[in-house]
Amino acid sequence: MTFRDLHLVEPILEALAEQGYENPTPIQEQSIPMLLRGKDLLGCAQTGTGKTAAFALPILQNIFLDLERNSRNRKIKALIVTPTRELAIQIDESFTAYSKYTNIRNTVIFGGVKQGKQTQALKRGVDVLIATPGRLLDLINQGFISLRDIDYFVLDEADQMLDMGFIHDIRRLLTYLPDNRQSLFFSATMPPSIVKLSDKILGEPEKVTIKPEQATAERVEQAIFFVKKRDKTKLLIHLINTEDANTSLVFSRTKHGADKIVKLLRRNDIMAEAIHGNKSQNARQRALGNFKEGRTKVLVATDIAARGIDVSKLSLVINYDLPNIPETYVHRIGRTGRARESGVAYSFCDMSELDFLRDIQKLIKQTIPVVQDHPYMDDGSGDDYEPDRRPRNNKWQNRRNKNNNNRGGGNGRSGGRRR
Ligand code: AMP
Repeated sequence: MTFRDLHLVEPILEALAEQGYENPTPIQEQSIPMLLRGKDLLGCAQTGTGKTAAFALPILQNIFLDLERNSRNRKIKALIVTPTRELAIQIDESFTAYSKYTNIRNTVIFGGVKQGKQTQALKRGVDVLIATPGRLLDLINQGFISLRDIDYFVLDEADQMLDMGFIHDIRRLLTYLPDNRQSLFFSATMPPSIVKLSDKILGEPEKVTIKPEQATAERVEQAIFFVKKRDKTKLLIHLINTEDANTSLVFSRTKHGADKIVKLLRRNDIMAEAIHGNKSQNARQRALGNFKEGRTKVLVATDIAARGIDVSKLSLVINYDLPNIPETYVHRIGRTGRARESGVAYSFCDMSELDFLRDIQKLIKQTIPVVQDHPYMDDGSGDDYEPDRRPRNNKWQNRRNKNNNNRGGGNGRSGGRRR
C-alpha cells in the first residue's frame, strides 16, 4: 500500500515524499479512507504510531479541495485540541510540513507564553488551529477565536487530558462547536470515563485500534535492571558511558528527581538537561532543541513534559523510575522505536517498584528480560531495608526469580547492547 493508493492529492503526496514517508503506517492505512469519506473516528492509539498524519492528511485534503472551490473562505475550519504545549507544537509542525505545497494556513496556541504573537497569527486568518485547552478557551472568551465554522474537530490524547484535569475545559469547549462537524477522538487507553466522553463527542464513529504492544512494546527491545535505589545514578552513568547511544531520554517520576539526576550527570561530565513543568516554555523548547541537535546527550524528563517529544534518532530510553501507571510505561518506551524503527528501553527497578513492574508486564503481556550481572545488580540480599520493612514471603526474590525464569532470550547481558 502506498499513499497514492489512498487517493491523496498531488501536493500532499509531494510533501510526504519530501518527509521521506514511503508507506502509510497501519493507523494511516485504516483511518485515512474513512476520514476522507467524512466519518467520525474513535482511535485507540498513541503517539508513535503515525497518528498525527492519520488525522492531518485527510483534514488537509478536504480543506484543500474546499479552498479550491472557495479561496476566500479563510476561517478556522479544523480544530485540534491536545493536552501539552510540546504536543501542540509538534502537531503544528506536522501540519506545516504536510501542507507545504498547498495554501492552507495553520497556527498553534498554548499557555505559558504571552498571547500577542498568537493573536496576531489568528488575525491574519488560519484554516487549521492547534491548541491546548486553557489558552483556547481564554482566547475564545477574549473574542479572538470563533469556532462557528469548524468542520473538523480532533480531540487528541484524551486520556492524558482527563489525567491532567481538563475535563471541564473540554465540556465547555464542546458548547462552542457547531453540531454539524466531523469529529475524531484519540486516546491511548479506553477506560469507562473516556468511552463516556467519546460518546458525547462522536456520532456513530468508525473504530480503529492500534494496540500498544503492536505499536511499541513488540518493536522496542526492553530490559529490566534490578538495582537498589541508592545505586540508580551510578548505574545510569555506567550505561550512558558504555552504551553506544548518541541520545538518551531518561524518565524520572518527579520534577525534583529530574533536576537531581541532571546535576549528578553533569558532575560526571555528561551533558544533560531536564525538561519538566517547572521550567518555562522557552527553557523547555531550548532544552528540546539542544537535544534534537545533539548538543546535549541526555534529556531527563517527567512524563507530562515528555508527551510530544519526537526525536527521530532517539536510540535509548531509560526509565530511572518505573511509572506507577502501566500505560505510562508504553508511552515512555514509545519515545524510541518510532514509526517502525527499532529502539531500546531500559528500566531500573528497585524493591519499592516491584508492583509497578508486575502491572506493566500484565499490560504489555510480556515478561521483560532481566539484565544479569551488571555492576550494580541488586541480588535481594539487601542491607537497604529496615528489618521490619523487609519484603514478606520473600516477595522480592520470588518476583526476580519469575522474571529470570522467563527471560525470553534476554539473559546474560551485562548492560551492553545486544543488537
Ligand atoms: P506520530 O505517532 O504522529 O507522533 O508519528 C510518529 C513519527 O512517525 C513521527 O516522527 C512522524 O514523522 C513519523 N511518521 C508518521 N507517518 C509515517 C510514515 N508513513 N512513514 C514514516 N514515518 C512516519
